[in-house]
Amino acid sequence: MKRLRNYIGGELLEPLGGDYLDNVDPAVGRIHSRVPRSGDDDLQRAVEAATAAFPEWSTTPAEERSRFLLDIADRIERELPALAQAECVATGKPWSLASSLDIPRAVSNFRFFATAILHTQSESHMTDHRALNYTLRRPRGVAGLISPWNLPLYLLSWKIAPALATGNTAVAKPSELTPTTASLLAEVCRDAGLPAGVLNIVHGLGPEVGAALVRHPSVPTLSFTGGTETGREISRTAGPMFKKIALELGGKNPNLVFADADLDEALANSVRSAFSNQGQVCLSGSRLFVEQDIYDSFLERFVAETRKLRVGDPLDEQTQQGALVSREHQEKVLSYIRLAEEEGGRVLCGGGPPEDLPRRCRDGFFVEPTVISGLGPASRVNQEEIFGPVVTVMPFRDENEVVEHANGTAYGLSASIWTRDLARAHRLAERIDCGTIWINCWLLRDLRVPFGGMKQSGVGREGGEEALRFFTEPKNVCIRTSA
Ligand code: NDP
Repeated sequence: MKRLRNYIGGELLEPLGGDYLDNVDPAVGRIHSRVPRSGDDDLQRAVEAATAAFPEWSTTPAEERSRFLLDIADRIERELPALAQAECVATGKPWSLASSLDIPRAVSNFRFFATAILHTQSESHMTDHRALNYTLRRPRGVAGLISPWNLPLYLLSWKIAPALATGNTAVAKPSELTPTTASLLAEVCRDAGLPAGVLNIVHGLGPEVGAALVRHPSVPTLSFTGGTETGREISRTAGPMFKKIALELGGKNPNLVFADADLDEALANSVRSAFSNQGQVCLSGSRLFVEQDIYDSFLERFVAETRKLRVGDPLDEQTQQGALVSREHQEKVLSYIRLAEEEGGRVLCGGGPPEDLPRRCRDGFFVEPTVISGLGPASRVNQEEIFGPVVTVMPFRDENEVVEHANGTAYGLSASIWTRDLARAHRLAERIDCGTIWINCWLLRDLRVPFGGMKQSGVGREGGEEALRFFTEPKNVCIRTSA
């Protein structure tokens, strides 16, 4: 059975303690490889390697750092079919998504930050005629980067690329559930000749090696994407250590459809936003609010379109819905469907594992795309993040009511609004408390824009200039210009 290795100091290494975890293919329910269960000693080695590499990497000219990152992007692009297949096997996501979104986005992440660092500018302030102040931005040292399982290479590279581009070195900890593409990225970096220790990847369990990374005194910067509870735990440790942290956390995102919208567009994209990646996207439109006048007809069409989604083998190019990431997660999602029924909801389609899966996938962790109506906005199903192919649908009377419901959760990551009324769109964009507001679209991403959540969806922003600032320390230099 294939064993993945850690990437430390430019080498692919076994874990020092010799312990491994099983890596399961969720579409078939069988172990396909083993992943290091790294310990504190592996983490220590990785931090030492990153610390040793920092002085040289941080003073390497931006153009040279850029060339390394562009080369890594090219290599990922050349390896796209192998990487996409690895992502499907690790996560259960369909090939159509891994090959069109996950891996191309990893390429874009490296290209974007490789070129962004060639076009930066820094502020200067003249103080009357007495002084010139300018801002010096320096990399902060070793960055700790922790990412989740839903978009493994996409989100890991979204952190690695800006950290390295700005001259930091890094220790990354991918999710133990989906480590394969991170391990392939290590091989790509080694083949690209990235200097030893600039990037280190340590596999293992979050509460073990992840927590060790968070509390390591030589790691002053932490960028984390994952669940809100884990983010809270990380804050508890990192806060008193005065580390700089960015937390990208969960969401319970409202999707608002007004009667005046282009309803065909709203329908197609609402289905996409509810069920892409089996609903395991932090930005999923998991609460669908439909204006009362069109509620019945829209809901009927929404259910009909959902029923058409092809659930099946992730490796089949025709498949639109693959497996959930693990048996445990499948059970969690199914428990929320049962809870919805207990809370008085009506399951309009889906509701359990599909019955007609291909033979190869019979032991996989699938859940049919599920639409639920009849639940109030305050129900637990409408308050808690399910992170699966489950969407609830609710009618609303007017703007005020829907704003109250949209804002009525602990989360504030993203919202979509479907309307042809531009004035209303602007009004709602201002009133809805989310880090991203999409008007007549969903998941239309520009890597330059600030990305992150409000309330319990996160702290700080990633993307573009925000990421370049996060990974650098501003220092003001004040020069007296007159006596
Ligand atoms: P988790 O919070 O469980 O895990 C995220 C990462 O943190 C994993 O690598 C995990 O390791 C690690 N980890 C777990 N416990 C600790 C700890 N105590 N200290 C340090 N690291 C730890 O999230 P999931 O992987 O389950 O991902 C799903 C969540 O991520 C959802 O809530 C989703 O909304 C959110 N998310 C947010 C995004 C955003 O941009 N806002 C984007 C994508 C997802 P291990 O896997 O070994 O447990």
